[in-house]
Amino acid sequence: ANFTELGLISPLLTRLTEMEYLQPTPIQAQAIPSVLAGRDLIAGANTGSGKTAAFALPLLQQLHTEKQLSDTSSKGNYVTGLILVPTRELAIQVADSIKSYAAHLNGAVKTVAVFGGVSANTQMLALRGGTDILVATPGRLLDLISSNAIKLDRVKTLVLDEADRMLSLGFTDELSALLALTPKQKQILLFSATFPEQVQTLTQELLNDPVEIQL
Ligand code: AMP
Repeated sequence: ANFTELGLISPLLTRLTEMEYLQPTPIQAQAIPSVLAGRDLIAGANTGSGKTAAFALPLLQQLHTEKQLSDTSSKGNYVTGLILVPTRELAIQVADSIKSYAAHLNGAVKTVAVFGGVSANTQMLALRGGTDILVATPGRLLDLISSNAIKLDRVKTLVLDEADRMLSLGFTDELSALLALTPKQKQILLFSATFPEQVQTLTQELLNDPVEIQL
């Protein structure tokens, strides 16, 4: 399949051509149509598999399409697409990729990254008025919620990236706390290189009839 056949809209296709993404990787070919269809997803995926675009492209498309239909002016400190990652480096990298894929969406989809180890002030300012996509490490996100900089009650899609690393780094309690603040009804996409018992438990508790991708 090529990217057009996966159902992506032209501003994204144009960008992919510019970036010289000629063919979808296997995880992209399998994930993109399912995510666009609103399905939950569980995918075994390593770095280098193209997993970032596998969730970022359909997420951008959903948000871009919805934003044209809905009025977000009264939503306050909302976030619609939440991507949880284990490390600051990954947060920056994922947010940069998303911004790059969104180059032709005319600024319609706002993306912010938040992570620990730096002052929260700049991040709080960036979150003013809400954000469409938030890429976050769990600890800093909880801090920002405590300061009322952001609320999770309007999350429609939740991505857990590198779920195994997130749990092995000890973010289990943070993850539970964050999940409890999101709406029950939401789409969940879980990416993990390995599937130890902790990840399997999380999967069983969270995902609703997920599409399973094993490469
Ligand atoms: P990831 O696994 O998401 O970290 O992506 C690994 C690298 O592959 C990144 O540098 C991406 O820009 C690149 N990449 C992802 N998808 C494609 C594709 N379909 N064609 C060419 N390069 C890609």
